[in-house]
Amino acid sequence: KKKENFLLHESLNSSLELIGSTFKNYNISVKRDIDKGLEVFGFPNEFAQALLNILSNAKDALIEKRVAKPEVCVKLKKHEDMGKIFISDNAGGIDEEVMLKIFEPYFTTKEQGKGTGIGLYMSKMIIEQNMKGKIYAKNIDKGVSFIIEIPLKQKDE
Ligand code: ADP
Ligand code: MG
Repeated sequence: KKKENFLLHESLNSSLELIGSTFKNYNISVKRDIDKGLEVFGFPNEFAQALLNILSNAKDALIEKRVAKPEVCVKLKKHEDMGKIFISDNAGGIDEEVMLKIFEPYFTTKEQGKGTGIGLYMSKMIIEQNMKGKIYAKNIDKGVSFIIEIPLKQKDE
C-alpha cells in the first residue's frame, strides 16, 4: 500500500456520508462549512476512518446526553500551510480529568460492550503518523471541538 495525494473535503464527505443515515435516525443535524481543493498526502481511507471515529463519538455523546437539538458542525479551512478540520458537537463537552485521557488506548467512559476506547487512539495514530498532522480537543460553548491539522501538499511537490 502506498501513500497518495487526495483532497481533504473528499475524505470528510465520505465519512459524513457513511454516518449520514445514523445521524438522520437520531435527528442529528449537520452544519457544514467545507472548503474544497485542499490537497494532502497520505492514506485516504485510513484518514476517513479517523474522521468517522470522531463523528461517531459525537453521535454517542449526543444520544447519551439526550440533547434536545443535537447538532454536529463540520468545518474545513485552509490555515497557512495546513488544512484545518473542526468537528464540534453540542453534547456538553468533556470534563477536564477525562480530557487528559481521551487519546489513551483503552480509555473509555462508556459502559461495557459499548466502547473499546481505541477510537481516538487510532485516530491520533493515523493523523500523526500517516499524515504528519495533529489532533487535539477543546471544550467550546456547548460541547467539544476536535481540531485536526494536516500539512497541505506544496505546489512544487
Ligand atoms: P470509545 O468511543 O470506545 O469510548 P474513544 O477513544 O473513541 O473510545 O473515546 C474515548 C472517550 O472520549 C469516550 O469514552 C468519551 O468519554 C470521550 N469522548 C470522545 N468524544 C466525545 C464527545 N464528542 N463528547 C463527549 N465525550 C467524548
Ligand atoms: Mg469511539
